[in-house]
Amino acid sequence: MRQKLAAGNWKMNGTGAELTELKALSQIHPAASVDILIFPPATLLSRASIAVQGTAISVGGQNCHAAKSGAHTGDISADMLVDAGATSVILGHSERRVDHGEHDEDVRAKARAAMDAGLKAIICVGESLEQREAANTLDIIGGQMSGSIPDQSTGENLIVAYEPIWAIGTGKVPTLEEIGEVHDFMRARLERRFGEGVGRSVRLLYGGSVKPDNAADIFSVSNVDGALVGGASLKASDFSGIIQAL
Ligand code: 13P
Repeated sequence: MRQKLAAGNWKMNGTGAELTELKALSQIHPAASVDILIFPPATLLSRASIAVQGTAISVGGQNCHAAKSGAHTGDISADMLVDAGATSVILGHSERRVDHGEHDEDVRAKARAAMDAGLKAIICVGESLEQREAANTLDIIGGQMSGSIPDQSTGENLIVAYEPIWAIGTGKVPTLEEIGEVHDFMRARLERRFGEGVGRSVRLLYGGSVKPDNAADIFSVSNVDGALVGGASLKASDFSGIIQAL
């Protein structure tokens, strides 16, 4: 059975004061039956990893560079994330694909570096509204998966998050049928590429306007193993509602 996972992407939010939310979350869920991952901004990663020591929460990075080290001002390597206490890293988020021009090949190179460093890579895929309206969703998702997911992937080091761009931060959510169609498609592709054993063990997350009040419905969809949550992961009380729905 795939272990359920609640992942909270804080994006560019949070300073030292918000570490109290991590403490609060760990108190509400002292021994969680699901995996809980929080992705604070890079500036908080070390402190966050210390704050969650001995709790059911792990922390990860929101991005990494494909190189091990070197002349890359402002960038962070996978080894540096590990050193700061990360167990995982989000890669290919649409905000990085759009704001920083990251393409599938970039995401794949970063994922290789992350996996080589011992991190789990949460690789994000998702269509724009225009692509969905043109009935291109599955083609887009399939292409992003082929291009972004490295060959060395396993059920241990890979998690794939389906995040329709038009659902991020908008309060709009695909229908449960639409979520199910994409997740079934992703599962089938993973099984075809990696074989049934690995394909069935990779966790698939849904992301995009997940809230405490819609989480249970979304989690009832087959092949949805959890959520990648933005806004509703910032407050322990909200995120806790989503964890409980898992
Ligand atoms: P929201 O939950 O704020 O829509 O963000 C989703 C997301 O982008 C998580 O990575």
